Amino acid sequence: MLADDLTAAAVLAAMPCFPVPPHGTSPAIEALRAARAGHGLAIGADGMMLILRRPWLALDVPVTPPISAYLPYGSIGTPRADLRCGLIPRGHIEEILDNFRASLPNEQGAFILWNETTRAFAVHFPDIDQATPTRLVYRPPILQPDWHVICDIHSHGAGPAFFSATDDSDDAHATKISLVFGRFGHPDGPSMAARLCAGGMFLALPQSPFAGDRHAT
Ligand SMILES: [Zn+2]
Repeated sequence: MLADDLTAAAVLAAMPCFPVPPHGTSPAIEALRAARAGHGLAIGADGMMLILRRPWLALDVPVTPPISAYLPYGSIGTPRADLRCGLIPRGHIEEILDNFRASLPNEQGAFILWNETTRAFAVHFPDIDQATPTRLVYRPPILQPDWHVICDIHSHGAGPAFFSATDDSDDAHATKISLVFGRFGHPDGPSMAARLCAGGMFLALPQSPFAGDRHAT
């Protein structure tokens, strides 16, 4: 039995995994989907779904293609990536863009935080260890109780907006929305690159996280 093997039990506790019954759900899967925070895998005939919850995020994302072997399982259901915190007020991103412009030619960073009790958003400008036009070292905020990092945002100054190898290693273990703004000062700028970092993956955002944006990112 799994529970008799300490290593196997620890692995299963770190990433629980649930077969989907033929009718499509089980109390354990429902509890995971409703949880304030947690994660686990649902295994269905149509693939494996990572179910990840944070106070601000409800993410169901397939992590395998459909399984071709016969399985007496139900469907993992529909993917979702919903902001439980709601959309981020437009004014916050405008404040950050103004700050990034004022910091040119240097790169600059900012965080958008959210309080799960008051449901308020806040902008946090981090302590900067080093800022140049091509390099930025900044510290994540020390969070007070109930506060969560929703967005980690930095500028590439006049350079293009993309995720560098440094950005990839910075984002590897986080659960957050990561945004890069670049091409400040260009006629068609600034431009934005966006991704959701979760479960060790970088995922496309299905929609802009900002209120009033109609465009997909
Ligand atoms: Zn970068």
